[in-house]
Amino acid sequence: MTMVEEVKTSRLKEKVKHPKRQMARRILIFVSFMLFPVTIFYLSPYLSFAGPIQGYISACLLVFGSLFILSLFVGRLFCSYVCPMAGMQEAMSKIQARRINRKTFFVKWLIFIPWIVVIILLPILFAEGFNGVKIFFGMENEELGIPGISILSFQGIMIYYIVVLLLLLWGFIIGKRSFCHHMCWVGPFMVIGRKISNWFRIPSLRLKPENEKCINCKRCDRICPMSLDVSKLVQRGNMEDSNCILCGECIDECPKNVIHYTFTSQKKAQVPEITIEK
Ligand code: SF4
Ligand code: SF4
Repeated sequence: MTMVEEVKTSRLKEKVKHPKRQMARRILIFVSFMLFPVTIFYLSPYLSFAGPIQGYISACLLVFGSLFILSLFVGRLFCSYVCPMAGMQEAMSKIQARRINRKTFFVKWLIFIPWIVVIILLPILFAEGFNGVKIFFGMENEELGIPGISILSFQGIMIYYIVVLLLLLWGFIIGKRSFCHHMCWVGPFMVIGRKISNWFRIPSLRLKPENEKCINCKRCDRICPMSLDVSKLVQRGNMEDSNCILCGECIDECPKNVIHYTFTSQKKAQVPEITIEK
């Protein structure tokens, strides 16, 4: 074995620091995925504006609003530790771990922009006044008397699984977390919240590198579920990226303990840029 191969092998053998954190994270999103037939309407793109148009504050609207406010302080943490679609996609990435080309990330803006316009403009233009709070708007299930559960009918469950299968197929063809990059309608609120947090220098959960310790092994690039070039973010000394979901996989995978969580403003999370030879 050559010296270069020995160095590479020894880097790969170095143990990760917090496998339990990632195990807990994966269990959380898998459970969330299993519960998705119950919770899906709380993240419904239709109900988010249908309630306000009829003058109701609904659970769906509160969930979207809460995610936006939370994102000011914890970015897209929801995407990594709670989102049901994350559970489905990360399970799929065990079979298909292809990284997504960053050049395709713009596709989400084709959905983001019309979606944000719809959710803000429709209630403003067509709202029927304020009729109060109807928490289970769209989830009354009056015949069965079990409000708050999204899908109760056999037909609904079948449609749900067909949609899930189509999304899994899309992920299998395109790559890791393709739904997040190209189709998600929940992400826009958190991306905008994160950008506001950066503009106003709000202290928030972030990643901070100690880039002088980096050996450029690129394990962080390979493990990142969002297909980010993490090693480049490390070297530039600024890990802010609106596609980062703060999952901590890169933190836990790094053999040199380079990346850390921190709670501070974007400016304070930056360090001077360095260049590391390959
Ligand atoms: S940050 Fe860590 S895992 Fe990523 S390239 Fe540097 S040493 Fe390797
Ligand atoms: S950069 Fe790190 S924390 Fe962000 S999505 Fe990638 S692995 Fe997760």
